Amino acid sequence: MPLTTKPLKQTRTISGEEIDLRDAAEHIERYFRNNLAWGESLAPVDVDILQTILDVLVYADDLAAELGPEMLCPILAAPGPGQLDARPWLRYALARLLELPAGVADGWSEWVWPRVERIYKRTAGALAEIYHGQTVKVVCPWCDGRTEDQPVGGAHTWQVEVLPNNQVAIVCHGTNCNPPPEHVTTWLWGKPCWPITAWEKLAQRLQPAS
Ligand SMILES: [Zn+2]
Repeated sequence: MPLTTKPLKQTRTISGEEIDLRDAAEHIERYFRNNLAWGESLAPVDVDILQTILDVLVYADDLAAELGPEMLCPILAAPGPGQLDARPWLRYALARLLELPAGVADGWSEWVWPRVERIYKRTAGALAEIYHGQTVKVVCPWCDGRTEDQPVGGAHTWQVEVLPNNQVAIVCHGTNCNPPPEHVTTWLWGKPCWPITAWEKLAQRLQPAS
Protein backbone atom coordinates (compact mmCIF):
# COMPACT_ATOMS: atom_id res chain seq x y z
CA MET A 1 0.00 0.00 0.00
CA PRO A 2 1.17 3.57 -0.58
CA LEU A 3 3.77 4.83 1.86
CA THR A 4 4.50 1.38 3.25
CA THR A 5 8.21 0.70 3.18
CA LYS A 6 9.76 -2.06 1.18
CA PRO A 7 9.89 -5.39 2.98
CA LEU A 8 13.40 -6.69 3.70
CA LYS A 9 13.20 -9.38 1.07
CA GLN A 10 10.99 -8.24 -1.77
CA THR A 11 12.09 -10.28 -4.75
CA ARG A 12 13.09 -13.89 -4.44
CA THR A 13 16.44 -15.23 -5.53
CA ILE A 14 16.31 -17.16 -8.80
CA SER A 15 17.76 -20.66 -8.73
CA GLY A 16 20.30 -21.91 -11.27
CA GLU A 17 17.67 -24.01 -12.96
CA GLU A 18 15.32 -21.02 -13.32
CA ILE A 19 18.17 -18.97 -14.81
CA ASP A 20 18.75 -21.73 -17.40
CA LEU A 21 15.04 -21.80 -18.24
CA ARG A 22 14.92 -18.02 -18.58
CA ASP A 23 18.01 -18.02 -20.82
CA ALA A 24 16.50 -20.78 -22.95
CA ALA A 25 13.28 -18.74 -23.32
CA GLU A 26 15.36 -15.73 -24.40
CA HIS A 27 17.21 -17.78 -27.00
CA ILE A 28 13.97 -19.19 -28.38
CA GLU A 29 12.45 -15.74 -28.59
CA ARG A 30 15.54 -14.34 -30.35
CA TYR A 31 15.67 -17.30 -32.72
CA PHE A 32 12.06 -16.88 -33.84
CA ARG A 33 12.04 -13.09 -33.80
CA ASN A 34 11.51 -11.74 -37.29
CA ASN A 35 10.62 -8.29 -38.51
CA LEU A 36 6.95 -8.97 -37.78
CA ALA A 37 7.60 -9.56 -34.06
CA TRP A 38 6.54 -7.13 -31.35
CA GLY A 39 9.17 -4.49 -30.87
CA GLU A 40 10.85 -5.23 -34.22
CA SER A 41 8.37 -4.10 -36.84
CA LEU A 42 8.30 -0.43 -37.72
CA ALA A 43 4.54 -0.42 -38.21
CA PRO A 44 3.27 2.70 -39.97
CA VAL A 45 0.31 2.64 -37.57
CA ASP A 46 -0.13 2.59 -33.82
CA VAL A 47 -0.97 -1.08 -33.20
CA ASP A 48 -2.94 -0.27 -30.06
CA ILE A 49 -5.11 2.25 -31.93
CA LEU A 50 -5.66 -0.18 -34.81
CA GLN A 51 -6.74 -2.89 -32.35
CA THR A 52 -9.09 -0.42 -30.65
CA ILE A 53 -10.72 0.49 -33.97
CA LEU A 54 -11.24 -3.20 -34.74
CA ASP A 55 -12.64 -3.92 -31.25
CA VAL A 56 -15.10 -1.03 -31.50
CA LEU A 57 -16.21 -2.28 -34.91
CA VAL A 58 -16.80 -5.82 -33.57
CA TYR A 59 -18.74 -4.48 -30.55
CA ALA A 60 -20.87 -2.22 -32.77
CA ASP A 61 -21.60 -5.05 -35.22
CA ASP A 62 -22.68 -7.32 -32.31
CA LEU A 63 -24.98 -4.60 -31.04
CA ALA A 64 -26.58 -4.10 -34.47
CA ALA A 65 -26.93 -7.86 -35.03
CA GLU A 66 -28.85 -8.26 -31.75
CA LEU A 67 -31.10 -5.23 -32.11
CA GLY A 68 -32.05 -5.63 -35.79
CA PRO A 69 -34.01 -8.92 -35.53
CA GLU A 70 -35.68 -7.67 -32.35
CA MET A 71 -37.29 -4.81 -34.32
CA LEU A 72 -37.88 -7.05 -37.39
CA CYS A 73 -35.65 -4.76 -39.35
CA PRO A 74 -33.55 -5.70 -42.40
CA ILE A 75 -30.24 -6.84 -40.99
CA LEU A 76 -27.19 -4.71 -41.69
CA ALA A 77 -24.51 -6.92 -43.26
CA ALA A 78 -21.42 -7.52 -41.11
CA PRO A 79 -18.39 -5.35 -41.95
CA GLY A 80 -16.23 -6.73 -44.76
CA PRO A 81 -12.44 -6.78 -45.05
CA GLY A 82 -10.94 -3.31 -45.03
CA GLN A 83 -14.06 -1.86 -43.42
CA LEU A 84 -12.96 -0.07 -40.25
CA ASP A 85 -15.56 2.63 -39.69
CA ALA A 86 -17.97 1.48 -36.96
CA ARG A 87 -20.37 4.40 -37.42
CA PRO A 88 -22.90 2.72 -39.77
CA TRP A 89 -23.43 -0.09 -37.22
CA LEU A 90 -23.63 2.35 -34.32
CA ARG A 91 -26.18 4.50 -36.21
CA TYR A 92 -28.20 1.40 -37.07
CA ALA A 93 -28.18 0.23 -33.42
CA LEU A 94 -29.19 3.68 -32.18
CA ALA A 95 -32.08 3.88 -34.68
CA ARG A 96 -33.37 0.47 -33.50
CA LEU A 97 -33.15 1.58 -29.85
CA LEU A 98 -35.20 4.69 -30.60
CA GLU A 99 -37.88 2.53 -32.24
CA LEU A 100 -38.36 0.34 -29.16
CA PRO A 101 -41.85 0.56 -27.68
CA ALA A 102 -41.95 2.19 -24.23
CA GLY A 103 -42.85 -1.06 -22.46
CA VAL A 104 -39.67 -2.92 -23.38
CA ALA A 105 -37.25 -0.01 -23.75
CA ASP A 106 -36.05 -0.18 -20.15
CA GLY A 107 -35.15 -3.87 -20.34
CA TRP A 108 -33.21 -3.30 -23.55
CA SER A 109 -31.42 -0.29 -22.11
CA GLU A 110 -30.08 -2.49 -19.34
CA TRP A 111 -28.82 -4.95 -21.88
CA VAL A 112 -27.31 -2.30 -24.13
CA TRP A 113 -25.63 -0.20 -21.45
CA PRO A 114 -22.68 -2.51 -20.56
CA ARG A 115 -22.00 -3.03 -24.27
CA VAL A 116 -21.94 0.67 -25.01
CA GLU A 117 -19.83 1.27 -21.91
CA ARG A 118 -17.31 -1.26 -23.21
CA ILE A 119 -16.97 0.73 -26.44
CA TYR A 120 -16.57 3.93 -24.47
CA LYS A 121 -13.95 2.47 -22.12
CA ARG A 122 -11.92 0.87 -24.89
CA THR A 123 -11.84 4.18 -26.78
CA ALA A 124 -11.08 6.28 -23.71
CA GLY A 125 -8.25 3.89 -22.80
CA ALA A 126 -6.64 4.18 -26.23
CA LEU A 127 -6.91 7.97 -26.09
CA ALA A 128 -5.31 8.04 -22.61
CA GLU A 129 -8.49 9.54 -21.18
CA ILE A 130 -8.72 7.10 -18.28
CA TYR A 131 -6.33 6.43 -15.45
CA HIS A 132 -6.93 2.81 -14.54
CA GLY A 133 -5.19 0.37 -16.84
CA GLN A 134 -3.50 2.94 -19.07
CA THR A 135 -0.12 1.72 -20.32
CA VAL A 136 2.75 4.18 -20.05
CA LYS A 137 4.83 4.00 -23.22
CA VAL A 138 8.14 3.66 -21.45
CA VAL A 139 10.59 0.80 -20.96
CA CYS A 140 11.27 0.47 -17.24
CA PRO A 141 14.94 1.28 -16.56
CA TRP A 142 15.13 -1.26 -13.73
CA CYS A 143 13.65 -4.43 -15.21
CA ASP A 144 14.22 -3.35 -18.87
CA GLY A 145 10.64 -4.32 -19.65
CA ARG A 146 11.14 -8.06 -19.13
CA THR A 147 7.92 -10.03 -18.90
CA GLU A 148 7.00 -13.67 -19.18
CA ASP A 149 5.89 -13.12 -22.78
CA GLN A 150 8.89 -10.99 -23.63
CA PRO A 151 11.84 -12.34 -21.61
CA VAL A 152 14.37 -10.36 -23.67
CA GLY A 153 12.74 -7.13 -22.47
CA GLY A 154 11.46 -4.04 -24.22
CA ALA A 155 7.82 -4.40 -23.14
CA HIS A 156 5.86 -1.47 -21.74
CA THR A 157 5.37 -2.71 -18.19
CA TRP A 158 4.24 0.49 -16.47
CA GLN A 159 0.53 0.85 -15.88
CA VAL A 160 -1.41 3.67 -14.35
CA GLU A 161 -3.70 2.27 -11.67
CA VAL A 162 -6.25 3.68 -9.28
CA LEU A 163 -5.38 2.21 -5.87
CA PRO A 164 -8.05 1.10 -3.39
CA ASN A 165 -7.70 4.45 -1.54
CA ASN A 166 -8.39 6.31 -4.86
CA GLN A 167 -4.81 7.41 -5.18
CA VAL A 168 -3.43 7.29 -8.71
CA ALA A 169 -0.11 5.51 -9.18
CA ILE A 170 2.17 3.89 -11.76
CA VAL A 171 2.90 0.22 -11.08
CA CYS A 172 5.60 -1.77 -12.91
CA HIS A 173 4.47 -5.27 -13.88
CA GLY A 174 7.89 -6.40 -15.14
CA THR A 175 9.31 -9.72 -14.01
CA ASN A 176 11.11 -9.38 -10.67
CA CYS A 177 11.37 -5.59 -11.04
CA ASN A 178 13.50 -4.38 -8.17
CA PRO A 179 14.57 -0.72 -8.25
CA PRO A 180 16.98 0.42 -5.52
CA PRO A 181 15.37 2.03 -2.44
CA GLU A 182 16.34 5.58 -3.49
CA HIS A 183 14.15 5.23 -6.58
CA VAL A 184 11.05 3.64 -5.11
CA THR A 185 9.56 4.06 -1.67
CA THR A 186 6.24 2.33 -2.15
CA TRP A 187 5.40 -1.24 -3.06
CA LEU A 188 2.04 -2.64 -4.10
CA TRP A 189 1.47 -6.40 -3.99
CA GLY A 190 5.20 -6.96 -4.35
CA LYS A 191 5.54 -4.57 -7.29
CA PRO A 192 7.24 -1.17 -7.31
CA CYS A 193 4.65 1.59 -7.21
CA TRP A 194 5.00 5.34 -7.74
CA PRO A 195 2.12 7.48 -6.46
CA ILE A 196 1.30 10.55 -8.55
CA THR A 197 3.32 12.76 -6.17
CA ALA A 198 6.48 10.88 -7.19
CA TRP A 199 5.95 11.16 -10.95
CA GLU A 200 8.10 14.21 -11.48
CA LYS A 201 11.11 12.50 -9.90
CA LEU A 202 10.31 9.37 -11.88
CA ALA A 203 10.24 11.36 -15.13
CA GLN A 204 13.61 12.91 -14.27
CA ARG A 205 15.05 9.46 -13.68
CA LEU A 206 14.00 8.52 -17.24
CA GLN A 207 15.72 11.51 -18.83
CA PRO A 208 18.75 12.24 -16.61
CA ALA A 209 20.70 14.18 -19.26
CA SER A 210 17.99 16.39 -20.72
ZN1 LIG B 1 10.22 -2.47 -13.90
